[in-house]
Amino acid sequence: MNRLTILGSGFAVANQNQENTYLLVQTGMHTVLIDCGNNPVGKLQQAGVAINQITDLILTHAHADHMGALPLLMMDMWLCKRQTPLKVYGLDYTLEKAKALLAIYNWENWQGMFPVEFYSISADSRQEIVHARELSISAASVKHLIPTVGVRVSFVETHKTFVYSCDTEPCEGLDRLATGAHLLIQEAAGPAKGHTSPEEAGITANKAGVKELVLIHYDAGRSEEDLLSRASSNFAGKVSLAKDLQFFE
Ligand SMILES: [Zn+2]
Ligand SMILES: [Zn+2]
Repeated sequence: MNRLTILGSGFAVANQNQENTYLLVQTGMHTVLIDCGNNPVGKLQQAGVAINQITDLILTHAHADHMGALPLLMMDMWLCKRQTPLKVYGLDYTLEKAKALLAIYNWENWQGMFPVEFYSISADSRQEIVHARELSISAASVKHLIPTVGVRVSFVETHKTFVYSCDTEPCEGLDRLATGAHLLIQEAAGPAKGHTSPEEAGITANKAGVKELVLIHYDAGRSEEDLLSRASSNFAGKVSLAKDLQFFE
């Protein structure tokens, strides 16, 4: 299996149809969770994945809608008797906040707690963080209100590459990360500082030469037609709106 699933597609204010934005990457060997603003257990079950199948967790940034459920995720893994180590990746700033969040619950004293390995992502250059025979995941800084990374996922077998902008305004870091990808999953919460408007999403997709643009982290109160037409005004490829549990292969 080489699959990227959108577990949640909503922006900072979730609704009954959309949890906050977070993603899942699956191959035979890896099950990678990108962010955890929500406790992922329910959505993982719907996707047919047990919580302790997760091998890696990438935290894009320390906003509550992206990592607010981290303590609950860890606690549920522990209660489900996880033994294998969990690899957690983030910028130094993000990991510091993540550890502080976990410290509230004295997680290091949980009896029989599984090992958690923290890996720091460089803020200065694009970095490959998951490197395997079947999968490559890299991260690079983007331009949000706090230190944040966007993520590029490449499946070796299918030669498919997907880029998730994360929360960002248009920036060179994202342009470089997205260049030549098949699909750009682009936040469209703007126009606002640190975010991207649908029009700007179209410009970024066009510049990067992607085949398809999927808008995510958008305000569900806006009309779908309006969001799509605004993005399409600057991008000739296919444009759609992300939905929870939609997947790409
Ligand atoms: Zn966000
Ligand atoms: Zn954010």
